[in-house]
Amino acid sequence: MATPQVDIMTALVAEEVVEPAEVAKPELAEEPALARTVDLKITLEDSALTQGGWVRGTLPEGTQSAMIGDTPVSFDEDGNFFAAFDRDSPSSLLLTAEHKIGRSLVQPLAIAPRAWDIERINVAKGTGGGGEAWWATREPEWLAIKEARERETDAQGWRQEFIWPVTGRISGRFGRQRIYRGEPGSYHSGIDIAPGNGTPFVAPADGVVVLARTGFSLEGGIIILDHGAGLNSAFIHLSQLSVSEGETVRQGQALGNVGATGRATGSHLHWSLVWKGNRLDPLLFLPPMP
Ligand SMILES: [Zn+2]
Repeated sequence: MATPQVDIMTALVAEEVVEPAEVAKPELAEEPALARTVDLKITLEDSALTQGGWVRGTLPEGTQSAMIGDTPVSFDEDGNFFAAFDRDSPSSLLLTAEHKIGRSLVQPLAIAPRAWDIERINVAKGTGGGGEAWWATREPEWLAIKEARERETDAQGWRQEFIWPVTGRISGRFGRQRIYRGEPGSYHSGIDIAPGNGTPFVAPADGVVVLARTGFSLEGGIIILDHGAGLNSAFIHLSQLSVSEGETVRQGQALGNVGATGRATGSHLHWSLVWKGNRLDPLLFLPPMP
């Protein structure tokens, strides 16, 4: 009986495959789906296997679903996928694929930890927020951002090598965190680039504009760009917006201008990248600054 061949070295099979004992069975009609060789292999093509990083690769033909940790991974008809690792990702994750022949493929991933810039200060942590009146204004903004981040479009930017939206001094790095008398504050969720007030910036990759608003209490002018496959970018503190919601933009297309709107100290572009709720380091998607 022909059985599918599995490359054990590259495709670790989750469940022990127990071949049934040889018993005489009546010859069945040829089953073409099982008679041919199936290459059950998860291929990793390009990656930054570290906290805040990412991976691109290919799942074998016939994959029905895939997960990384407990997050579902989307993939195209050729099995191409994108996945990424949170700032606080554990040091090992499993990429699993359920194949239609009933096997689970498991690809272990070692995620290198990062040494984050942690500043311990002897000051009590502020309570943040401003009570009910503040929340009445803030809640619809917060919801609009949450919904935009969760929106899925058919944008294809997730396949691209990203480009710098603008170049300038990096005034804030991803992951930086203050600890107030032992109580951690929220960490810096993106990178800050300070090219000067009013400087135009562009789309780092293809996308669909899922949010384009002004006057948000913390963000000021904000654009959220969906890159597809669960990956999206937010740009905040903008002085001007050049695109509107629903617009499809190409990599390198002007999005708006850098500013200091919302809660900002000095003009800068704050750019944050998220994949399905995981916060990523934009620097890991970029070539060295030109
Ligand atoms: Zn920032």
